Amino acid sequence: SLRPYLSLPPIDEPLSTTEFVLSLLLKSSPPATAGKNIESLSYLVNSTSGDNLTYGKLLRGVRSLAVSLRERFPSLSSRDVAFILSPPSLHVPVLYLALMSIGVVMSPSNSIGSELEVSHQVEVSKPVIAFATSETVEKLRSSSSSFPLGIVLMDSPEFLSWLNRSSVNPIQVRVNQSDPAAILFSSGTTGRVKGVMLTHRNLIASTAVSHQRALQDPVDYDRVGLFSLPLFHVFGFMMMVRAISLGETLVLLGRFELEAMLKAVEKYKVTGIPVSPPLIVTLVKSDLTNKYDLRSLRSLGCGGAPLGKDVAERFIQKFPDVEIVQGYGLTESTGPVASTFGPEETIKYGSVGRISENLEAKIVDPSTGEALPPGKNGELWIRGPIIMKGYVGNEKASAETVDEEGWLKTGDLCYFDSEGFLYIVDRLKELIKYKAYQVPPVELEQILHSNPDVVDAAVVPFPDEDAGEIPMAFIVRKPGSSLNEAQVVDFVAKQVAPYKKVRRVGFINAIPKNPAGKILRRELTKIAVEGNASK
Ligand code: AMP
Repeated sequence: SLRPYLSLPPIDEPLSTTEFVLSLLLKSSPPATAGKNIESLSYLVNSTSGDNLTYGKLLRGVRSLAVSLRERFPSLSSRDVAFILSPPSLHVPVLYLALMSIGVVMSPSNSIGSELEVSHQVEVSKPVIAFATSETVEKLRSSSSSFPLGIVLMDSPEFLSWLNRSSVNPIQVRVNQSDPAAILFSSGTTGRVKGVMLTHRNLIASTAVSHQRALQDPVDYDRVGLFSLPLFHVFGFMMMVRAISLGETLVLLGRFELEAMLKAVEKYKVTGIPVSPPLIVTLVKSDLTNKYDLRSLRSLGCGGAPLGKDVAERFIQKFPDVEIVQGYGLTESTGPVASTFGPEETIKYGSVGRISENLEAKIVDPSTGEALPPGKNGELWIRGPIIMKGYVGNEKASAETVDEEGWLKTGDLCYFDSEGFLYIVDRLKELIKYKAYQVPPVELEQILHSNPDVVDAAVVPFPDEDAGEIPMAFIVRKPGSSLNEAQVVDFVAKQVAPYKKVRRVGFINAIPKNPAGKILRRELTKIAVEGNASK
């Protein structure tokens, strides 16, 4: 049940992601731009300030910034890495595209990350330059010596002048599709956060598929999208790129707030919203939805974490005219691996759809490596042009995740039905997903181990209707210690981004481990759910 092959540009043709995406916008004239003046068509609108970035300004801004960066930093060259720490803004996509157009590898990080998290990511991605804002630059304090070319403030007059130069001669930089384009962060199947190296080819292949899909499916095609996804995560990043390839307008919502979102849907006649499942739960539960005119809304593209069948059904009862397009993907696969497509597929709630164009997939018995037939649960392995090049500077983790034949081991327990629909059953890997954000348990365990009252610790997912999962810590206290739940929560909260906080604590006599010392996480989750740990 493979979807038809989609032809991609010849692999040996030099082509950057930027060139490819802008050429889709300009050369293939997607229907969203039909009859409109692309110069004045909005790409991004900031729903709080009303500021607007037109496609005309985007095109000129990318060129102007690329030239300015090369002039200001003559030694900045292809394959150098630029670290980016900025909240979502109209400048972020311009910076991403400008860097990729000159072969510089962009590495965006979560602007609400803690200084500790940010410095680890800097260590991993080894940047030569950083882009921050006056709000986020503090977090680069301990890593500031890591940027030989310095730190650029994206809200400084100098940066703004680089975006707006009236006449620049475009520069020609040869960028090969096999060159690295982006380093995004993911903990993969185990351990701490790693840098996922994506090539221009990966980004081009992923964009080509989502662009083509949207053109074929008028419902999935968000002429006006509302955007509250983070731009540093593969889901937000690829949706942002896809929108450009289609000439769509995206309304940027700052910090997520339900009423602001509903107001924006009414005001801008939003047709589609890319979301993660917790937002669907919120929309189902809230009465505020009755206060606003949401009739423009046609589809929600949902991904990043499992969406319960019951939630999807409750949503459709409440909003019968809105389609939920489900998608499943990973950072390591440049986003979408499977998704539903068209009215017949989208009503198969519970399934994340069929495998994307140009991908091969198999379900494998994780203990024997043997391929399994439809209907049987096993680990999903995928192969194709969107699979990452590897984890930067970590050959061991790369080899454990992508085998010699190019199969990416997803760490997800899945099955296919006889028609090729994919069902995600469980996660085999350690990862916790809080509101679809990655929370690597090992990172929290390391922090807990640094507490003098803690003898041993393990962190596991605990099911939660609103967030999907919350991190729960199991603690073995030092004899005589009176360490309590609030103190544990507070100890971790001070050192991590808010979404990574430990939200539940259980005390236990010993952490269950296998003979090799590996934490038996499933056993702990069972204890957690059955409520057998002491408070
Ligand atoms: P990330 O790299 O942050 O995108 O996380 C990828 C992981 O999120 C996948 O390996 C899955 O475990 C989970 N995930 C993403 N989308 C879905 C989905 N639609 N249903 C279930 N799990 C998902």
